[in-house]
This record gives sequence, C-alpha cells and structure tokens, in this order.
Amino acid sequence: MSFDGEGAGSHAAVFTLTCPACKGTGTFHTWDCIDGTRDPALRLRILTDETLFFYECPHCKAQIHMESPCLYIDRNQKYMVWHIPDLTVPVTSQEVCDFLGQPSFDDYTCRVALTWGEWREKIIEMESAYDDRIYEIIKFGAYQLIKEEDRQRLLLEAYHLDYADESRRSDQLALVFMQEHQKGMGYTYEITSKVLEVTRDIFMPLLERLSAVSEKAAFERRGYAWAQHFMTYAMKAASAGNGREAYGQLIGFWIQTLGQELFHADIKMPESQQNKI
Ligand SMILES: [Zn+2]
Repeated sequence: MSFDGEGAGSHAAVFTLTCPACKGTGTFHTWDCIDGTRDPALRLRILTDETLFFYECPHCKAQIHMESPCLYIDRNQKYMVWHIPDLTVPVTSQEVCDFLGQPSFDDYTCRVALTWGEWREKIIEMESAYDDRIYEIIKFGAYQLIKEEDRQRLLLEAYHLDYADESRRSDQLALVFMQEHQKGMGYTYEITSKVLEVTRDIFMPLLERLSAVSEKAAFERRGYAWAQHFMTYAMKAASAGNGREAYGQLIGFWIQTLGQELFHADIKMPESQQNKI
C-alpha cells in the first residue's frame, strides 16, 4: 500500500470483521496513518478519545477495542511512532518510505509501540521538550521505589505516563499508577523539572554514546523493558570505570531526587544497595 506522501495527510483503512460476541460481520473504518501535523483534530482524538479505535458491532452493539497497525507522523518535530501490535512484524524505515512515498526519513526519530496505550504515551513523550528515553528512565526508576506490597495492587501493565492535568501541557507530565480492581482509581505524581534535569544530566552522556552507534531512522521500542536494560548497562559501566565511586554517588543522588520530587519521601539507601536499583 502506498500513497502520495507530499500531498497526503492521514490515511484511512477499512477492515471487514467478524464480531466475537455474535459472529455477525461488519466494516471497521479506521486509519493506518495519522499525520499529526496536517490533521490536528485527529491528533487531539488520539490524546483524548478512548473510543477512537473502538469497533461497534452493527448487530449486537458490542464495543471492541481494535489493535490494528497505525503510523503516527509529526513533520514539524520530525518523529514517527508506529503502533504495531505484533512484535514479529519486521519494522524498517524502508517500509515507511514506501508507504509514505517519500525517499528518506533519515532525520526522523522513529519509535515503535505494541499497544494503543503505549503509542499514545510515546506521542506525549515525543511532544515534550525532553528526550523520550529520559521519561522512560524516570518511569522505571520511580516504579522501583514503590514498596513490594504496593506493586501487587499497582500493576506494571497499567502504570503509565500522562498529562498532569486537563490543560494537557507537554511540559507538565505525570506518572500514573492505576489500582487493580478499582476502575479509574489511581495515583498521579507530577514529574518536576528538577527530576527531568537531574535525570538528563546524569544519563544523557550515556544515551548519546548509545545513539552514536544506532542509526536514527530505525524503528525502536523504547519503553519500560528498554529502560530496565539501559539501567543494567549504566550500572555495569559505572562499576567498571575509574569514576566508580563518583558514579555510585550520582545514582544515589538521582534516587534521592526521584523520591523527594515525585513522592515527597526520603529514600534510605543502604550502603550495599548504592550500586543497584
Ligand atoms: Zn456483534
């Protein structure tokens, strides 16, 4: 499938579906590409309308949350986030070039997301002034700070990043912990500019070293699992280098900052934990 990338904005897609509830067939109208630059109304729906990717069965009126692929593109901020519900589908920038009819997206940052929720979250991160990986590192670090018993009811799958309030300002984002079995109930912790600055100062040099070896226009998943890998790598790099003690202190300072700024709590760090998360 391809269409004229220069002239086109978003691109509609139509699927014939069989309803899992009543087995009746129907037609699902959706998009396989949303151009946030040319289609600001659709961009807003991604961010605010939970029913955007719902299919309603014309026979029994069942509402079904659809997970069909969709590419989001922002031509001003030069990034793309591709929602691909199947991890086994290969994702290359060449496919995007063919799809959008544009020879190259070399100067674009490209991300891939597995679910609609992750896709929306990534778009919010990409619109902010900070590198999306900084948010993922904060998100990972903050989850390590909650108590084990709280993790049982504040499930990782429902833990996400969102706007801090209804004003939807990209410089006011928050971590949202949802409670299991209590729909719509959760805790919101605003990510302060101090948390962002401290995290950036400590981790950006390492991230830049990593970016230098990976090409820009490759679609990569940069979520919680990535942050976990990255922190393991950061810890290893820290304990191997000459500045081992200094880096351990920096990590300790970072954890203290997360605790104070996000949870207004002082984190006690036992000596043996200083090089671990
Ligand atoms: Zn039905």
